[in-house]
Amino acid sequence: MENETLAGIYGSMIFNDSVMRERLPKAIYNAWQSAVLNHETLSRSTADVIANAMKDWAISKGATHYSHWFIPMTGKTAEKHDSFLSQTSDGRVIMEFSGKNLVKGEPDASSFPSGGLRATFEARGYTAWDCTSPAFVRNKILYIPTLFCSYTGESLDKKTPLLRSMDALSASAVRLMRLMGHSDVKNVNPFVGSEQEYFIITKEDYDKRPDLIFTGRTLIGVPAVKGQEMDDHYFGSINARVTDFMQALNRKFCELGISAKTEHNEAAPAQHEFAPIFSIANIATDQNHLVMEIMQQVALEKGLVCLLHEKPFDGINGSGKHNNWSIVSDNGVNLLEPGREPAENIEFALVMSGIIRAVDKYADLLRFATASYGNDLRLGSHEAPPAIISVYLGETITNALYDACSSERHNRARVKFDTGVASIPRFTKDSEDRNRTSPFAFTGNKFEFRMVGSSQSVADANIILNTIAADSFDYISDKLEGGRTPQEVISEILTNHSRIIFNGNNYSEEWREEASRRGLHNIADSVDAVASLLDEKNMLLFEKFNVFSNAELEARYEIMLEAYIKTANVEAKCLYSMVKNSIYGALMKNIAEYCNTANGVSNVGISIIGSRLEERINTMYNLSEELIDLADELTVALDVSRTISDSFEKACYFRDNILNIMERTRRVCDDIEGNMDDEFYPFPKYTDILFDVR
Ligand code: ADP
Ligand code: MG
Repeated sequence: MENETLAGIYGSMIFNDSVMRERLPKAIYNAWQSAVLNHETLSRSTADVIANAMKDWAISKGATHYSHWFIPMTGKTAEKHDSFLSQTSDGRVIMEFSGKNLVKGEPDASSFPSGGLRATFEARGYTAWDCTSPAFVRNKILYIPTLFCSYTGESLDKKTPLLRSMDALSASAVRLMRLMGHSDVKNVNPFVGSEQEYFIITKEDYDKRPDLIFTGRTLIGVPAVKGQEMDDHYFGSINARVTDFMQALNRKFCELGISAKTEHNEAAPAQHEFAPIFSIANIATDQNHLVMEIMQQVALEKGLVCLLHEKPFDGINGSGKHNNWSIVSDNGVNLLEPGREPAENIEFALVMSGIIRAVDKYADLLRFATASYGNDLRLGSHEAPPAIISVYLGETITNALYDACSSERHNRARVKFDTGVASIPRFTKDSEDRNRTSPFAFTGNKFEFRMVGSSQSVADANIILNTIAADSFDYISDKLEGGRTPQEVISEILTNHSRIIFNGNNYSEEWREEASRRGLHNIADSVDAVASLLDEKNMLLFEKFNVFSNAELEARYEIMLEAYIKTANVEAKCLYSMVKNSIYGALMKNIAEYCNTANGVSNVGISIIGSRLEERINTMYNLSEELIDLADELTVALDVSRTISDSFEKACYFRDNILNIMERTRRVCDDIEGNMDDEFYPFPKYTDILFDVR
């Protein structure tokens, strides 16, 4: 019944292909389809007809306003609602939406990050309709996915470079496929499915934690009595409240054409995962933004809060977003499909060697794509991929690639799996086991890029993946056109780039040492990762494929450093205020209570000198002094930070000094929490927060 209902509402709130087919004159529908497939520009008159049909459809779905919807450099979507209502010259009111309103918007853009591309007095920015991603109605608003550019045409968003990178990938992949004899291929698209991890906590707990409200994570807190050590939450039975939340979520997703492929409890208590069915990269990006927004909205409706931060709680797993990525031609061939005999599949081997080269040559860019203040707290700990980039292929595929360029063959016998239970048939095992520790793992017919942070836009990861793959495909095509055989090209790439292949345990200390021997990048934090953006080889790459101009890259460099600094600054101020305005006073009350007891005890003639009571009072008092010293140290450091004007220098100062003071302050706070009576501690503790959703 539930499935029937979901099927009934599937896609009902998107202006998708079938709605357009139904509501548009045939010629207009064909013009739109051709624009999408062949990346052509729509004429104004065609846009006028589409706009009118879109408006009528949206009004029938309850919409009163429309909004261009874009992803500025904050990484969070932006919207500004405009009413359909407009007044005619004779004073009547009509509902209107023209092609002009559809294809172009002019939001006052002065307050979006521009990294120096636009001075605040030059407020104008443009939004431009992305006709390849469907418009949708949500909360009575017609949303139109758009790009966002400055008055002078530079991209100020995540979508524009994503679409440019998709064009670059398509051109290079088509060129390679044609060289391999597929003369009919016109287009190749990246497909993306992003698995989204998140935490669900109660609104009551959330509202009492300024750190969660202002920074999205807990800045202090002693690990809960029970963490994830029992492994009983992962895939565990989902409790009634979370089930109710997931069902409400699924309805909303379904209306917008986003279907759940899987949903389950994740490793940490209160942690869950949602994975949609994959789609074309730009639509998948829009959908992932919607997924994040809807999760937060639905949670609130249920008295819950959805935390998307990469590391909301210390001591248990943080959240990531696995970016599953494949490359599919317009005639339906997945270039990453090995087939039954990968060693004999020369096209597959060529494409795979191209990806290996791309990841090795541009490992720093993949690291950059996952750089954020929050993700630094997650990467490299024993739960998430390390900051060292490598590729997992598994033994079968690794062997197949070597076999593809030689006359020798590794043993490829398929192994049967036997449970030892007579009534269960034996079945053929997958050719590979899973490797959950690899940052970039081949998983059958797609790559899974596991380093992306849970709150990040997947646009960044896919911009990089598409562009570096385009570079490798062109490299291969150049070689083939220069007379080399596919086998020679694969062999040469394996010789030069096999160091990036690692099929072992990425969490191990041995891998760190081995990776360093192999000379692989190990960029520990976001500040250094951002710096690599301006590396000469990277600037040349983006310029060659028209993904970013140098000015756009420099702007992005500035924006990312600014974001790092601002996040760290807000965290430092939040921690300071929690310490100064809550914890210190609460601790004093607790000490006063103990002193009262001590007085009482003394009054009846018992000496407290040398007693455990005296020891506790001393411990708490010493901690209070230490705490205030650290708060003062933090103030001084923040004052110093304000005197630094260069963004890189300032980000380094936060990373090397302020984060260290914050970490030490946290340890003292946690010590205080451990010593203080529960009734005095001013915030909900991990033990409450992680187990209150029941
Ligand atoms: P796994 O269990 O190996 O992680 P799943 O089948 O559960 O794989 O898929 C995980 C995510 O990958 C889902 O969002 C799914 O839609 C997506 N996905 C599956 N196949 C592809 C593909 N060919 N290209 C891109 N994404 C894919
Ligand atoms: Mg997966």
